[in-house]
Amino acid sequence: MSNEKAASKAFKFHDYQARLASFKNWAFDDIEDSICTSVKLAEAGFFRPYPRKRPDLAECYICLKPLEGWEEQDDPWTEHKSHMPTCPLSKLRDKGIDVNNLTVEQRIKLELERGKFLLHRDYQDIKKEFEDRIPEVRSKLMRLT
Ligand SMILES: [Zn+2]
Repeated sequence: MSNEKAASKAFKFHDYQARLASFKNWAFDDIEDSICTSVKLAEAGFFRPYPRKRPDLAECYICLKPLEGWEEQDDPWTEHKSHMPTCPLSKLRDKGIDVNNLTVEQRIKLELERGKFLLHRDYQDIKKEFEDRIPEVRSKLMRLT
């Protein structure tokens, strides 16, 4: 999937119901006393980008932090904050704001923040691609001398 497609796909997850729907048939929903439910994951900003290919992977729709290896007693907000303390969504929640009932202005500000995370992720991908090619290019250059 191109980055552009991934970006527009993730955009719809501003909507809580869309995030919740992505967790259809989430394994821990049927376990009594489970903390890590689809509702709690969706409330904490997570959606499932690849329900079939990687059913255990959840990603924040703002900071794009992918987390997997969930356990039934994991609290989604606690995990979100511990793995991505700089997430703007977590910061809003810390201010006592209901992040699942945001104003248009708050959503626009969050979307700008999401754009920064998308750019950073693209930059990291390009940098890695470049670094991965260094040995090959170096060896070609050595053969020229
Ligand atoms: Zn986040």
